[in-house]
Amino acid sequence: MDEYDLLVVGSANADLVTAVTRRPGAGETVLGSDLAVHPGGKGANQAVAAARLGARTALLARVGDDAYGRLLLDAQESAGVDTAGVLVGGAPTGVALITVDPSGDNSIVVAPGANARLTPADVRAARGLFEAARVVSLQLEIPLETVAEAAGALAPGARLVLNPSPPAPLPPEVLEACDPLIVNEHEARVVLEGAGARVPDAPEEWARGLLALGPRSVVVTLGAEGALVATAEGGERVPSVKVDAVDTTGAGDAFTAALAWRLGVGDDLVTAARYAVRVGALAVTRAGAQASYPTGAEVAGLGG
Ligand code: ADP
Repeated sequence: MDEYDLLVVGSANADLVTAVTRRPGAGETVLGSDLAVHPGGKGANQAVAAARLGARTALLARVGDDAYGRLLLDAQESAGVDTAGVLVGGAPTGVALITVDPSGDNSIVVAPGANARLTPADVRAARGLFEAARVVSLQLEIPLETVAEAAGALAPGARLVLNPSPPAPLPPEVLEACDPLIVNEHEARVVLEGAGARVPDAPEEWARGLLALGPRSVVVTLGAEGALVATAEGGERVPSVKVDAVDTTGAGDAFTAALAWRLGVGDDLVTAARYAVRVGALAVTRAGAQASYPTGAEVAGLGG
């Protein structure tokens, strides 16, 4: 009984952003612009991205019983995400405190709050969601033991997509469940190093090195270059669509969500990646994360 194309298990954060002329040093106070508050967090971003494309999407996450938690739930519901699996309470909503300077460099402090309280027991209690999902998508902004529990909770025939971000070494049983493991360059290096593997120089070699750790497939995202898709049978580059990039925040989350959804509705990996680079390209043409995510109609209308 597939009810969801995609179940996202992950984080939800309020992003609190202020622009500064200079980021403060130790002991310093600087004045920033008016505060902007945006819904964010990798799990929440992915769920919104998928639902906006047309995926039947559910989110398993935890937020606080506070105003930021309500903001995050509203954003999910407006995009059409099923939020029955979003748990409320136990700690304040996760927050990312972000300062951005005129060159675009930022400093970020994350207070994980409720995200750190999403437990393996919460995953076990959400069995119904796992039984109804064709694809489950995970990232690493929730406790690793919760990620491992979710990776082991897939329904027969369901597929796991995992983006190890923020990057951390992964246990072998999690790596082996991934189909695909989705990484950018930095994440590829951390996962390879964490497994004690050599870190080679080229994306094709990262993909080979990562495949040797157990995942059935690997996707390496390459920013404006698009992505590389690799399985034991070989690799294929999927070029990006040429766009004027305005803001790459959340592009990786949109790419992953799009790829996961397309796999859930039956695309092969290369076809799903071709769709996902179009979604990623549209997401970088607009400011913000969730605010930048395209609809399915916009993706269909994109040339190239
Ligand atoms: P992350 O944000 O996780 O580092 P990437 O920067 O590789 O990931 O971006 C994810 C995807 O978003 C890329 O694979 C690509 O499809 C798309 N993308 C990112 N930057 C650009 C860009 N400048 N032009 C077109 N597409 C882009």
